[in-house]
Amino acid sequence: MHEVALASSLLQLVLDNARQQGARSVRRVVVAIGTLSHVEPRALAQAFTSASMGTLAGEAELAIEEPPGSAWCFDCGDTVPLAKLGDDCPRCGGGKLVVNGGDEMRLKALEVL
Ligand SMILES: [Zn+2]
Repeated sequence: MHEVALASSLLQLVLDNARQQGARSVRRVVVAIGTLSHVEPRALAQAFTSASMGTLAGEAELAIEEPPGSAWCFDCGDTVPLAKLGDDCPRCGGGKLVVNGGDEMRLKALEVL
């Protein structure tokens, strides 16, 4: 259940941003959670909703984008799609992969009033 800890750091980030903009309330929060990030989007959304109660972001709509995983394959010399960590290259079956996308969690946009 590390989503609870993530939700509270996300909330902190959102509130810091909102205060810097002199916001009265947060309307909408857009986060990207890569499919390789080991974060369960629904669990994060629930944790965020309960953590934000009574704060500037208490009424905020949370939109979650899920960018797909990708990795650099040394054998193909190219970026290939990666469904989950530990998978071999879907193109050549090789195992020399370095994840280069889809493992991030970040705040993409914030709409405030
Ligand atoms: Zn490959």
